[in-house]
Amino acid sequence: MSQPAAANSSLPDSTGQAQPEKAGQTLRITEIFYSLQGEARTVGLPTVFVRLTGCPLRCLYCDTEYAFSGGELFSIDDIAGRVAAYEPRYVTVTGGEPLAQKTCLPLLTRLCDAGYEVSLETGGALSVAGVDDRVVKVLDLKTPASGEMARNDYDNVALLTPRDQVKFVICDRADYEWARFKLDEYQLAQRVSDVLLSPSHGQLSGRELAEWILADNLPVRLQLQLHKLLWNDAPGH
Ligand code: SF4
Repeated sequence: MSQPAAANSSLPDSTGQAQPEKAGQTLRITEIFYSLQGEARTVGLPTVFVRLTGCPLRCLYCDTEYAFSGGELFSIDDIAGRVAAYEPRYVTVTGGEPLAQKTCLPLLTRLCDAGYEVSLETGGALSVAGVDDRVVKVLDLKTPASGEMARNDYDNVALLTPRDQVKFVICDRADYEWARFKLDEYQLAQRVSDVLLSPSHGQLSGRELAEWILADNLPVRLQLQLHKLLWNDAPGH
């Protein structure tokens, strides 16, 4: 998933000895960091990000390829402890594709139990069934120019609630027209709290997308990826 670079460096990992892997108890993590939310409804709010390693997709515009592999194994307890050290209100679980690791589901529940406002950024190819009801799901629908449109799991749409959000990364006018069609086909604006249209960095200007949205009076929110404006998308710092 595309997501913010950190304002602060990642937590020191002096305790970050890889945990012994126990089925269902560990996750492979690329980074945990504190930053401003760069996208979505809570844009600009201080948030802890837990970036899980790995993704089954290969979107042409992906800006988190460094999360495809590597990472370290951590227990849910260790992740929860690292998150708690920041005393956050908001926590975002992202990737990569966080749902590619089954232990993501108990992690989400653990973070909700701790009292945080938890969101999940997911690419839309894997089922969101089983995600804790308290989690705000931010679900991508991959457009034609992403190269991964065929991977969209549209069964997910029926699992969205009025607290959730749907995101389209728009690369060109054809993507925009496709998103407009999906908006209508699935009545997305009535189904979720926000439909987010984000211009693909370096491919489409925010201004051009804004003008299209206004011309069509679309019930969507334009987002400009604050983290790219502030930190040029530098990973993990
Ligand atoms: S879903 Fe696409 S954009 Fe997100 S991490 Fe995977 S390849 Fe990158």
